[in-house]
Amino acid sequence: MIVLEFKAKGKTTQYTAIDEAIRTAQFVRNKSIRFWMDNRGVGQKDLYRLSKSLRGEFPFVKALNSSACQASIERAYSSIARFYDNCKKSVVGKKAYPKFKKNSRSVEYKTSGWSLSQDRKQITFTDKKGIGKLKLKGTWDLNFYQIEQIKRVRLVRRADGYYVQFLVSVDNKVETQPTGKTIGLDVGLKEFYTDSNGHSEPNPRFYRTGEKRLKFRQRRVSRKKRASANRKKAINKLGRVHLKISRQREEHAKRIARCVIQSHDLVAYEDLRIKNLVRNHCLAKSINDAGWYQFRKWLEYFGVKFGRVTVAVNPAYTSLECSNCGAIVKKSLSTRTHVCECGFVMDRDWNAAINILKLALSTVGHTGTWILDPNASGDSTSTHAGVILSEQVGSKIEESSPL
Ligand SMILES: [Zn+2]
Repeated sequence: MIVLEFKAKGKTTQYTAIDEAIRTAQFVRNKSIRFWMDNRGVGQKDLYRLSKSLRGEFPFVKALNSSACQASIERAYSSIARFYDNCKKSVVGKKAYPKFKKNSRSVEYKTSGWSLSQDRKQITFTDKKGIGKLKLKGTWDLNFYQIEQIKRVRLVRRADGYYVQFLVSVDNKVETQPTGKTIGLDVGLKEFYTDSNGHSEPNPRFYRTGEKRLKFRQRRVSRKKRASANRKKAINKLGRVHLKISRQREEHAKRIARCVIQSHDLVAYEDLRIKNLVRNHCLAKSINDAGWYQFRKWLEYFGVKFGRVTVAVNPAYTSLECSNCGAIVKKSLSTRTHVCECGFVMDRDWNAAINILKLALSTVGHTGTWILDPNASGDSTSTHAGVILSEQVGSKIEESSPL
């Protein structure tokens, strides 16, 4: 299971409606705890029945989606179950006696009460709480998953706004240990990338030989007579060269991406769509461009698979800013070294890679992936039995409490 988080954008009235839904979920949870205290020995089924009667009694409970009510019941029951568990195991000290919540910060929906827009960049809450349609802001692409894989949707209130979390069931996820390392990557033309530690990954040799062979085959095509059999053959040969290069490129991007992801908790890179808008285009760069897109695709793929955070940052100023003092140092594309008035001198790409990492670390928490650790315990446990660990700034692991 992974959790993908997006910032929710809506109107103030919608945020008020989210608050109201969170309050209702807390009400249902506290009512269940009360019911258990008054009637020791009640089971989860009794609590479900309680949910039903609460819905009959209070219109504001009825307004919340019924499975969201159930989710609240399940949260309450899991804290009751944990208490019994601790008693049975005769844990010394605190047994985590279920407490009433006063300041819940989230409400959890199951597979109903919400729907995603066609492009999956908006979510509409369809129960009677009046939350309505929220825009989802984040670098994750929900199109990557089947709707059936989304097991829960959670609305979370934080100091800086509201967030939507999707609990996605991913089968091929590999359990990995945190590495304690973060990295920024600056993709370039001279090198495949330069990282924030100053390491440069060279372009593979087939980039150069490939370009040469492409040009050669292209010339061959243009020299043949139009609509001739020979031209057809030449076009086919050109197509084969293209195909071979694209396969090599794919393999290379995949290998490098897996390697980078496995050895870091957080990987930052530029959002290349934006980068290409500000960059001059010419034929010789075509292989690099395609290679970077594949590289990014594989970074995100392995990021999900290995539970790492990947962040695409806006590339504006990353190559101009001084990573030491923050000053803007204007330079042309051919200037290879960053020289700042503060006395800081560094390879241009290395400096950019550091800036990319800094930018990512300042925005993470808004975008990224969260690991579910089934072995962890704590009051923040939700019904899917897992504390959410988030890889935060400085890549230390912190427990976040969704409730
Ligand atoms: Zn400086």
